[in-house]
Amino acid sequence: MSETTAFEERLAVVQTRIERACAAAERERDQVRLLAVSKTKPPEAVEIAAQCGLRFFGENKVQEAQAKVPVCSEGLQWHLIGHLQSNKAKLAAQLFHMIHSVDSLKLMRALDRYAEQTLPILLQVNVAGDVAKFGFKPEEVRAALEAANESRHCEVHGLMTIPPFSPDPEKTRAHFRALRELRDRLEQEVGMPLPELSMGMSHDLEVAIEEGSTWVRIGTDLFGARG
Ligand SMILES: *Cc1c(COP(=O)(O)O)cnc(C)c1O
Repeated sequence: MSETTAFEERLAVVQTRIERACAAAERERDQVRLLAVSKTKPPEAVEIAAQCGLRFFGENKVQEAQAKVPVCSEGLQWHLIGHLQSNKAKLAAQLFHMIHSVDSLKLMRALDRYAEQTLPILLQVNVAGDVAKFGFKPEEVRAALEAANESRHCEVHGLMTIPPFSPDPEKTRAHFRALRELRDRLEQEVGMPLPELSMGMSHDLEVAIEEGSTWVRIGTDLFGARG
């Protein structure tokens, strides 16, 4: 089987899962976007995915993206989903269309300084209070949004979370729900639209969609296991 055929088959399965989850949640399919997480995969894999119609690609390391983005087709939209150090903010602002993983005010200020045009960002929230994870504490997000109001280039489009891994997606539901409820509350309190919720990966995309995800970040189930 060719690599393209194999990719098409995996993509069809993922698309069907997304469609079913949208139907079950009574949401329109176009409210959920598929971010193809191409980290560790070569440009050839991105090209196959692009030929199959995917446009949004997620990377977790600036250096890897720096090598990959210029050799891939133009017209793809690159999103950063991994922790970013402020000293790489300039490069990140040049490479990426959206940063899902803004996890500190320091980073937001650095991105704002170096971006040359409007830069959509999501604030990463550590909803589970997981000591091993980056992200704002839920109670810090309001102040971060107020600080973002002063930004010239950074525009907060919503929130992102990476919950602690559980093999049982139902165990993750509470974290996804907490992110949505936090978003709903902040929209009210700060009076700022926060339409995007980046949550859900290969094994738990259904639960994330049921809880309101607008960006599912899928690596393994599209590209196969990472080495
Ligand atoms: C790697 C990664 C993903 C994709 O995970 P899979 O389980 O391979 O789908 C999603 N989000 C983030 C932040 C990641 O680092």
